[in-house]
Amino acid sequence: METPLVPATVTRMMLGSGMFSVNAYLIRTGLGFVLVDTGTRGQQATLEKRLAEEGCTPGSLRLILITHGDVDHIGNAAYLRRMFEAPIAMNERDVRMASDGDMFAGRQSPGWVARILLPLIARLPEKNHFEPDVPVDEASDLSEYGLPGARILSLGGHSAGSIALLLDDGSLFCGDVLENRKVPKLGSIMDDVVTAQASVDRLKTLNVGTVYPGHGKPFEMAELG
Ligand SMILES: [Zn+2]
Repeated sequence: METPLVPATVTRMMLGSGMFSVNAYLIRTGLGFVLVDTGTRGQQATLEKRLAEEGCTPGSLRLILITHGDVDHIGNAAYLRRMFEAPIAMNERDVRMASDGDMFAGRQSPGWVARILLPLIARLPEKNHFEPDVPVDEASDLSEYGLPGARILSLGGHSAGSIALLLDDGSLFCGDVLENRKVPKLGSIMDDVVTAQASVDRLKTLNVGTVYPGHGKPFEMAELG
């Protein structure tokens, strides 16, 4: 059967508040839903409520797509996979962040203070660890999940396996490569600034319209300085 050609619509689900707020995005497609990122585990109840409000049910959630392996984006992925029986997709270079809860996996060596303090603040408990089901990279085709024409972009810098989802209408789900807490800009925490800047330079050559960042409000790519 042909995939019905229905334009994707996007719902922003802001989880948490202030400094700790993070976005998950629910994309409604002709085949059901694709969820981009899952918030931190403390935000599970809000996320579940928002999904229910949008009519996202087990059976209609086709894919959980993770932009990168940080705890504020993968916190509820294992839980949602159990509840919705939906596969989890992420890039293999960030897998150890999810399977071992090691947020430094694949990253440049952080200072000892960060190495000791960060895991205490932002640890992913073992029951939330997971191995993804669908490895995604630039060659991935997401037609079977209702997103024909969508592309996965490998945009390293924040983490080695950071990816973005670019829909055929120019909507870009960029994880933490770009943010818009106050103004649209390069994400404030970068592991490799040179690679991150190259990622943004590349984005400027693509047909990007609305950007849906991991933190802050959606914005138009043209607003990026
Ligand atoms: Zn984040």
